[in-house]
Amino acid sequence: MGRWWEMGPKRAFRWIFGSLERRLAGALLLLVLAATALQVVSEERAVTLRAETLNLQRAAANAENAGELIRAVADFHMQSHLALMPNPPETAENSLTDAAVRIDRQLTLLRISGAPLFELPDGTESVDQLGILVRDIRHEAALDGYDPDRLASIEARVAGMQSFSRSIEWMLDRERDEAYTQLIASTNSWHTRASAIGVAMVALALAMLADVMFNILPALRRMHNTIRRLASGDLHFEIEQFRLEELSALAGPLETFRRNALAVQSLAFTDSSTGLPNRRAFMEQTLARLEAGPGKGEAGLAVMVVDVDNFKHVNDDYGHATGDMLVRQVGERMQRVLGARAIVARSGGDEFVICAPYSDRQSAEAIGSRLVTAMQEPFDLGGFTVAITISLGLVETQGASGEVAVHALLNRADLALYASKNNGRNQASCYTADLENERDADRRLERDLTGAFERGQLHMVYQPIHSTADREDEVEALVRWTHPELGEVSPAHFIPAAERSNQIVRLGSWIIERALADLANWPDLTMSLNISSMQLQQDGFVGFLMRCCRKHEIASRRVILEVTESLSIERNTRALMTLNLLRNAGFRIALDDFGTGYSSLCLMKTFRFDRLKLDRSLIADLGKDPTSQAVFDAAVTMALKIGAEVVAEGISDEELVEPVRRAGCTHMQGFHYSRPIEAAEVLPYFARAREERLRVA
Ligand code: C2E
Ligand code: MG
Ligand code: MG
Repeated sequence: MGRWWEMGPKRAFRWIFGSLERRLAGALLLLVLAATALQVVSEERAVTLRAETLNLQRAAANAENAGELIRAVADFHMQSHLALMPNPPETAENSLTDAAVRIDRQLTLLRISGAPLFELPDGTESVDQLGILVRDIRHEAALDGYDPDRLASIEARVAGMQSFSRSIEWMLDRERDEAYTQLIASTNSWHTRASAIGVAMVALALAMLADVMFNILPALRRMHNTIRRLASGDLHFEIEQFRLEELSALAGPLETFRRNALAVQSLAFTDSSTGLPNRRAFMEQTLARLEAGPGKGEAGLAVMVVDVDNFKHVNDDYGHATGDMLVRQVGERMQRVLGARAIVARSGGDEFVICAPYSDRQSAEAIGSRLVTAMQEPFDLGGFTVAITISLGLVETQGASGEVAVHALLNRADLALYASKNNGRNQASCYTADLENERDADRRLERDLTGAFERGQLHMVYQPIHSTADREDEVEALVRWTHPELGEVSPAHFIPAAERSNQIVRLGSWIIERALADLANWPDLTMSLNISSMQLQQDGFVGFLMRCCRKHEIASRRVILEVTESLSIERNTRALMTLNLLRNAGFRIALDDFGTGYSSLCLMKTFRFDRLKLDRSLIADLGKDPTSQAVFDAAVTMALKIGAEVVAEGISDEELVEPVRRAGCTHMQGFHYSRPIEAAEVLPYFARAREERLRVA
């Protein structure tokens, strides 16, 4: 931009009006100029008016004196007549002199005040000869008889005086009138100029006010609004272009800030690897939705937590990029199934959180189940087709306020998810108060278990296992916990509690020590020990077990390690390595609870087990239901084919013995033979059993 005086008027105008600073400075400068002009005009007018007022005063005084002169001349005229009368009054002479003196005084006053008497056409001779005229009148009055010529001369000289004084009066009246007119004109001119400047100033002030009110303030207000919206985190609007230089200079950086903040926000609210909304986005959106409550036609809102079952396998088998692709597709499918009103977000790994409305026609549980079913349809992951299942937990709500409430709902949905997983996955579960009680009970178990060791609340019992070939006597070591308040707590409950609270390694070590110490007293017995998959991952577990065996002089052959067919073993290379080491060290490895999970067959392929323990659920209906028999037979055949022993668990009745024996099981275990017994009863039990066998034989 060049100098303003070098621009054309149009550009200069735009240059001035384009800036708030120049605009205001310009307006103020104009106001100052107007005020200065007013001041200058007022000063100048004040001086003129003072001079013209003085002039008028003088002219008025002169006019007054001229009037007095006329009256004095008239009096002189009358006194001259009195003095010239026959028998004039005694005072006539003095009165004539007085009148002459008054005339003279007035003339003197007029002369002093500068009245231009000599410019009058009649001149001043008539008054200059006043003294001579008085003397002539006196002289005439003193004569007896009248000289008509001299009287006429006196009369003419007085008349001349009168005419002169009227000329003076006329001239001075005119002078006064002119002075007055001049003063009026000057006053009017001052008024006009002051008014013009005043009007200009008022107009300027009004224009400034209008500009401030209708242009500047609204623009500032719009800018203020823009900044306030940005500061409050509202980033979804266009920042307008301002005409004022200062504001438009600010608009650019603000737009940059808005874009950057949007990018940061989208980063903060988006899961970077899949592009799905993240947990934070979920929390914000769900909070708003819950605070607003169910919408039109909605009965309530369901908060769900979803876990992709065995997602780790996808990552392990196909790589993380494919895993991310799967997660993205799962998220998109869930959104499609649930509709636009649902909030679907990835909260981590393979976990999703959802807030979806349900209606009277479709319950929250039905929606959850629909989602579970929809996920069973295989996913196309660019070359691979992957089938997955999900586990889902949900809780219903009519609305809530505050982040704490959303967390509480998520916790409940989590509990329900946990129940879904515990019940075999691939399903949806609804939150119930019972789940919470169970969780509380679990927590209590976890807490109390810590003290159970020191307080001697744990002890071991042993359940005999019978070989159908009567080859060896064997027991399975089972742990017991006598809780001071809850009484006997099932290991089915507290072993998972120990796993959750990371106490399983300590508990497992205690069990091994205790059980092997007992086994040392039973040299003819073999012992099955239940081992948690977490123990298999424990550092130095193999060494520990071998040290224990050495300490109690127990050959590793006499120890059978039972592991449950848990997925964590099948996929866990470390656990599998430990199992191999143990097997190489001479321990036998049994797969416990075969038939309760669905991937047992895979696991059978992954690891060569010495023994399979068929779960009692496979056995319970034998003899009653041909399908159960068929499944059972198939399982036994398969085990035998791979050269493993087969233990039938849960032989609780006499009538189960025959079908199990017939199917080819190598071992039997169950209440029919014996419940788990105390260590002290083990040897007597087997002594009795041997006697019985001998008796039968
Ligand atoms: P498991 O290893 O399959 O143990 C067999 C369970 O079946 C035992 O339950 C036993 O009492 C029960 N049982 C045996 N015969 C019958 C029968 O005829 N009918 C019925 N209804 N039940 C029968 P328990 O002792 O309650 O143990 C439950 C589970 O807890 C065990 O199943 C095992 O997985 C775990 N567990 C028990 N003790 C230990 C331990 O010392 N360490 C580890 N890691 N887990 C253990
Ligand atoms: Mg077992
Ligand atoms: Mg079992």
